[in-house]
Amino acid sequence: MDRAEKLFPPQAVRQIGVLPGNEFCCDCSARDTEWASVNHGTLICIACAGVHRSLGVNVSFVRSMHMDTWTDSQIEMMRQGGNGQMQDFFQRLELDKDSSSTKNKYMTKGAIQYRQFLKDRVTQILNGDIPGTPLSSFHGYISYHSYLSWC
Ligand SMILES: [Zn+2]
Repeated sequence: MDRAEKLFPPQAVRQIGVLPGNEFCCDCSARDTEWASVNHGTLICIACAGVHRSLGVNVSFVRSMHMDTWTDSQIEMMRQGGNGQMQDFFQRLELDKDSSSTKNKYMTKGAIQYRQFLKDRVTQILNGDIPGTPLSSFHGYISYHSYLSWC
């Protein structure tokens, strides 16, 4: 099921377009969200996409929202993600403060955990283990697990 690649469905583009924070680049607040960091479920601008690419695909997997093809799980990563959600998470762990560069921020343990949360959740949704619930409840999920991991 996941092997079929297709252009990002217009309906899903609209869905993620209204997620909090998704109107601006996640890293620099530019009004360009043509690119995505799939494993963070975030939208970024072309300049930040270049930075993300330099981190390597294991740290950030970059796709174009309009030019690349996508698998179902990649699309679901974007539906379950959102710039505001990741920014909140980073703020809670104070990753936004101590890291001067985008690079450092995405190399932190917290960032690794966030990627894992998102991936696990999408796997569960695609397996039918949990419903693809609205993102507001995912927020709670992140808080709870980050609490267990970090406090
Ligand atoms: Zn940017």
